[in-house]
Amino acid sequence: MRTPLIAGNWKMFKTVREAVTFVTDLKGRLSRVTGVDVVVAPTFPALQPVAAALEGSRIGVAAQNLHWEREGAFTGEVSAAMIRDAGVQWVIVGHSERRTLFGETDDTVNRKVRAAIVATLTPIVCIGETLQEREVDRTLDVLDRQIKTGLDGVTGSELAALVIAYEPVWAIGTGRTATPAQAQQAHEHIRARLLQWFGQDAASRCRVLYGGSVKPDNIAALMAQPDVDGALVGGASLDADSFTKIVAGSRR
Ligand code: PEP
Repeated sequence: MRTPLIAGNWKMFKTVREAVTFVTDLKGRLSRVTGVDVVVAPTFPALQPVAAALEGSRIGVAAQNLHWEREGAFTGEVSAAMIRDAGVQWVIVGHSERRTLFGETDDTVNRKVRAAIVATLTPIVCIGETLQEREVDRTLDVLDRQIKTGLDGVTGSELAALVIAYEPVWAIGTGRTATPAQAQQAHEHIRARLLQWFGQDAASRCRVLYGGSVKPDNIAALMAQPDVDGALVGGASLDADSFTKIVAGSRR
């Protein structure tokens, strides 16, 4: 049985002070919640202070990006080892905003995934189709390509610990959520491909999250789908009330 996971992607929001205040409050709100894993993804400057504020709690910390090289002349970049050294356990890789706005490809996603694994960070690998791709019925082909290239070289046991986030690009930050049936159809396909390419054990242990305008009022219906193991939450993760409600609503 896969434990549900709710991850909050804060994008480029919250100062260091705001982030620490937020997680200090969140820690109290979630202190008695069990049966669900929770992760927050602040900006780079807030990673270490947030990790320190959450020490001893069950809430994990994720970076929103990384570079695949260990160190070097790569101005503006941060390596997996550096992120790990800041007390962080998770990293989001290949978010659609990184792909669309910053030119990330399936190949760079793959380099990042592999670097994260080497540094013992757990990658949350984002995949998903654009509206145009959905309209021409290419959704499943796009997912296949993103999984095959993005996870190239990953072993079955590495996959089992890794997280995939299915985030249809047309649903991110738009208020337009995939219906539970649309989410399940994509998740079921992803699970079938994982089984084909990584084997039964890895496919049944790898968590597949849904992302795209998840809110307190739609989390339960999404979580009722057999292949939805949690959510990657953007906008609604910035508010402690709505994020807490999403976490509570995700328990099976
Ligand atoms: C995201 O940023 O990954 C996301 C799903 O955003 P939102 O929940 O705001 O659609």
